This record gives sequence, structure tokens and C-alpha cells, in this order.
Amino acid sequence: IPKSVVMSNNHNSPTSSFNDFLKNKNKTTSIQEQRRKLPVFEKRNKLLELIRQHSTLIIVGETGSGKTTQIPQFINAARLQNNGRIAVTQPRRVAAISIAMRVAQEMGDAEVGENVGYTVRFEDVSSVRTKIKYLTDGMLLREAVADNLLMDYTVVILDEAHERTIHTDVLFGVVKQAQKTREEKKLKPLKILIMSATMDVDHFSEYFNNCQAVYLEGRTHPVNVFYTLIPHEDYQAACVSTFFKINKEAPHNHDVLIFLTGQEEVEAVAHQIRLLSRDPDVEGPAIKVCTLYAAQPTTQQMAVFQPAPASMRKVIVSTNVAETSVTISGIRYVIDSGMVKTRSYHPATGLDMLIVQPISQEQSWQRTGRAGRESEGYCYRIYTRKQYDSMNKSTVPEIQRANLATVAIQLLALGIHAVNFDFMDAPPKEAILAAFEQLRLLGAIESINSKTLTSIGKKMVQFPLDPRFSKILLSAQAYGCVDEMLTIVACLSGESIFLNPPSKREQAISARQKFASPYGDHIMLLNTFKEFSRLTPNTTSRDFKNTSGNHQRMWCLEHYVNLRNILYASEVRTQLSEICERLKIPSSSCGDDIDQVRKCLLTGLFMNVAELHKDRQYITLDKRQLVIIHPSSVLYGQQPASVLFTEVVQTSKCYLRGLTTIENKWLHEIAPDYIQSHNIRFNR
Ligand code: ADP
Ligand code: MG
Repeated sequence: IPKSVVMSNNHNSPTSSFNDFLKNKNKTTSIQEQRRKLPVFEKRNKLLELIRQHSTLIIVGETGSGKTTQIPQFINAARLQNNGRIAVTQPRRVAAISIAMRVAQEMGDAEVGENVGYTVRFEDVSSVRTKIKYLTDGMLLREAVADNLLMDYTVVILDEAHERTIHTDVLFGVVKQAQKTREEKKLKPLKILIMSATMDVDHFSEYFNNCQAVYLEGRTHPVNVFYTLIPHEDYQAACVSTFFKINKEAPHNHDVLIFLTGQEEVEAVAHQIRLLSRDPDVEGPAIKVCTLYAAQPTTQQMAVFQPAPASMRKVIVSTNVAETSVTISGIRYVIDSGMVKTRSYHPATGLDMLIVQPISQEQSWQRTGRAGRESEGYCYRIYTRKQYDSMNKSTVPEIQRANLATVAIQLLALGIHAVNFDFMDAPPKEAILAAFEQLRLLGAIESINSKTLTSIGKKMVQFPLDPRFSKILLSAQAYGCVDEMLTIVACLSGESIFLNPPSKREQAISARQKFASPYGDHIMLLNTFKEFSRLTPNTTSRDFKNTSGNHQRMWCLEHYVNLRNILYASEVRTQLSEICERLKIPSSSCGDDIDQVRKCLLTGLFMNVAELHKDRQYITLDKRQLVIIHPSSVLYGQQPASVLFTEVVQTSKCYLRGLTTIENKWLHEIAPDYIQSHNIRFNR
């Protein structure tokens, strides 16, 4: 009996084993029937003809039309890849794996890893026999590091191009160059396919030498869209209550898809729905809850595609994986939280981080479309019409949101110098050069023309941080203050941990007075975090979480500390310390020797120093800019001779924020090259 997973609207499955046998027998045929029903199927010959003719082709088509699963199979059946392989990239690991499994099944393979394989981080399920390989875009980039001509492949398909992840954006340039070089050297040609659900086609076509684009018409049904009347503070709770409202009213075989932002949220909401569904007062059919997120264990992934047992309703709680990467049949209702977790650059601290923010209008419509694939559907947006209107039209490419020093160092890790790189949307050249100079001063490269990283540089790329902050963490070992630096960098990586209600400014300042430090704001963060960490009682009692949670909440209220933000900092700290562990950086603490912390901060922030000029005015050493200390700083009202700062904020005046006092003579020890090459002059 063949293993099979079949999508069907008919949830009344027979139970006897004979019926099971028959059903399975039918499933094999029905899998082929399903393939034939996909919109790409009738375009098969036309598509193959275009793919044969063009060395680069853009394919645009509605999500669920069969691009990702079918087109590689068409190419393979027609042997267009000759003796090479077909690579298909996906921004997300969960999509690469589940799609590879599905395609293996469609091709009649007993298991994945034969004709069809996948490669994601820490997992390579492919063999010499593999003809179609699904990979995350990050993994294909890694393969490009080993062989920048990608000779293993004769066809590379960059899928989900509209998402414009940094990895896919960089791959555009890498495959374009590989195709050109292979042609010049008369090596076997490389065919490039760009696939997407929505796309600025002219822009893509222009970049790929005005290549042809082909549109696949999808089949969609109308979706009724509802907005909330008032904005919801707690969108998770709103999603849950909306779900139960639907559950009460909708026919049981109408499945529901809920969009949330990340794994924890998905798990929390799934848990809540499971709990509430056991309540005898809940009206509606029994509920089968499935989850879908990037880091989900492989074995759980396929469950979302299984129809719910007879007379049960399936609800899938997902991150934006289900937006365009994977399609699940049977969905008639979509609940959209309107939020997404994306990597973003925090200009204030220079930290690259994951933040939860509103989706774009384009994403909003993609999510809505999931409800109308098979018949008329419904989409409940957990935001108001006004909130929708204020969303960005489309998603900004990650490369333009990310810090350039970070992009430059990542490209170097791939052996590519960003100045010579053919970006689809290039950042300004001065910005790239400035990033390289910063990397040189930090010791990540020998010179701004270097094409390789130093050993420090190689370690720096391991942290998901602006290189200045990675450098601080790497220096901490020598200064014996790894624990302290982890805390400070973690506290700087999110929103402020301090609460400053305008009406209670004085109270807030005096409540936090005991954490204040004459050395400045960073040390104050350290003192606050230390005290907060002591609150967690060292016990395993059953209600440990609640007790410590209440304790923390009270403490935060009392000290005007933002609980959510300090908990976030604590999470980031754990992640950073895991990376230190991997790099064999042992933990260490300098205790009360705060000078070590101040010097260590300077090893990454020496480019951000200002000196007292006159009468409360400061002047930055680098850009000779006149600045003053921001009123939010603990050093406001004082006049230390020299300070380092994490950011400059410009309103009516230029303010320095996030300060630590330093001594000028330390700069000569820590950054002698900078002082000399940048012609740094001191007043005192
Ligand atoms: P596109 O790439 O155009 O968005 P896909 O090729 O991903 O479309 O999907 C085509 C069809 O394959 C969809 O109807 C989807 O439901 C089905 N499908 C994809 N993966 C699976 C799976 N693991 N199990 C069952 N069906 C699947
Ligand atoms: Mg797809």
C-alpha cells in the first residue's frame, strides 16, 4: 500500500481496513488527478517551450497554481537539465522539506532523497541520484562559496523571489555571474528561472538583461473581507475569539488558517484553542489543531496537509510560511493578525534584530487569497480599515533594511567584495565604502579592498549583530567581562527597558535612582538587569513560573521598568551566550572593576566618541559635530570630559543617547590606528 497524503474536501473517511485499502488505492490515482487539475498543468507544453528557448525566464503565478511542485518535474520529465541537477530555492526550511516530500511522493519514489532531495541547515537528504533538489536560499549560497559557478546544477530556480530576502537577493547576482562565466568559458550552460507569486516584473526583467516573463493565470474565488472596528491591543486573544465564533457558525468541513508571527505565538495560540475546545460549553464541531512554523520538527510538518477526521474541523496556526510558500487545501476561513516577524536594522544601536511589525498591504492580500483557492471564502483581519490603509504598499527588500556593514561582512564570508557586486537594488556606493572602512577599523579585514576576512572577522560573522557589537563581545574575553557585555549588548538590542511616562518623569527617575551610575547609561542598564535577574527564585516548585512572574511584574512596576522589554533582553542574552559558547569564549565577570566594561565598550564604539566643548556642548571626534547630552541620559546635567555614545538623535538639536564616560588616553591604547588614519584631534 503506497504511503499517501491526499488533500481532499471530503473529510468523511471510511474506517474499516478494507475501505482504507481501497481509499489508498484511489489516492495514488487521485494524486495524479490533483496534479492535472493545477493551473500550470494546461500550460505545461507552452512553459517547456519557453524554458527551452530562454536561458533566463521569470514565471509569475498565483500561490497554489503549482509552480514550485510541478515546474521542476516538467523540466525533469523533459530532461531539460541534461546530466545536471535542478536546484529550487526556498526562503524557509519548512517549505523546502515539505515540498520535497510532496514531490517525491508525486514522482512515485518510496522516500525523499532519491530523485527528489532537500538540503537545509544541519540536514542534507539527497544522493548522487537526486535530480531535483529543494534548498533554502542560505544553503545554495553556502554551496556557492565552495563553487561559485554552481557546476553541480544546470537549472537553478530561485523561488519566492517576491520575498526579497537578503540571501535570494545575493543569489540573483551569484547565478547571473555564474551563467555568464560558464558561457564565456564554454562550460555547460546554466538556466535560471525566477518564480514568484507577486512581483515587480519589469524590475526583475531589467536586472536579468530584459529577460522574458510569463504569467500563469490562477483560479481564484471571491473572498469576503472583514475588518475590526477598533484596533486590538492583544491580537492573539482576538484571533482565538474570532476562531471560536467561526467554529460555532461555519460548516465543519470548512477549515481555518490563522496567521501569527513566530513559533512561541503559534504554540501559545494552538495551546489556548486546544484548551478551550475541551470546554463543554463550546459550540461547533470537534477541532483538530495543527501548527506550522519554520523550526517545526520534520515529522510534525506533514500533519498539516492531512485532512481532519470525519466531522472535525481543522485549524492551522501558522507563521507567514503559509502566506505563499506552502499551500494547504480545504481552507475557507483566514484569520489574519496583520503582524509579521522580520529581520530589521535598528539604526539607533546598529543592531540587526527580529522585530514584530505590521505586514504590507501586498502580504495582507496574499493572506486573504488563501481563503479563496477552492471556493468562496472569508477573511477576518484583526485590524481596522484605517490600520490597513497605513500599512506599506509592499515589503521593502531586506537588503535595504539591513545594516550594510553586516551585509558587507556576510558577502566577504562568501568571498565577494560588495563594491563590485551586481545588486538588483544596490545600496549607495559611499554607504558600502563606509561599511568597509568600519570593518577595517574593527579588524575584520586587512584593508578596504580585502576580499577575505581576518580570523576576528570570521568570528564576528557568527553573531547576528552589527559588527561593532560583535567586536565588543569578542573583546570581552581579554577584559574579563563577558557576562557584563552580554547583558549590555542584549539590553541595547530591543526597545528601552525603562518606562518613562511623561506625566511621571520625576517618580520614574527617583525610583530607578539606585541603579544610576556616575559612569553612565550602559552601566545603569547593567545594574538594572543584574537586580532583575536576582528576582528569579532558585526553585522548582510547581507554581514557580507564576510566583516569579508576579514578583517580576511588581518589581518592574515599582522601578518603572518595562517587563516585556527586559524579558526580551534576557532572551537575546541567552542566544548570544550560546554563540559565545560555540566560539569557545568562556564566561567571565569583572565584578566591580567597571573600567574593564568601559574599555571593552570602547573597542567597538571608538568611532562614537564626543568631548566636552564648552558650556554643556559636546563635539564628536569623528564628524566634528556639535551635540548635547539627551535629557533621558543619566549623565544629563553633568559635564564629563569625554563620552562614548550608542546613538545620535536629531530633533531640533543633535542629542547623544546611551552614554558611558571614558578617558581619552584609552583611545590611544585601544584604537591607535583610528586616531592616526582619521586625523582625530583632542581638545584636552
Ligand atoms: P505554488 O508554488 O504555485 O504556490 P505549489 O506547487 O506549492 O504551488 O502547490 C501546488 C499544489 O500542491 C497545492 O494545491 C498544494 O495544496 C499541493 N501540495 C503542496 N505540498 C503538499 C503536501 N505536502 N501535501 C499535499 N499537497 C501538497
Ligand atoms: Mg511556491
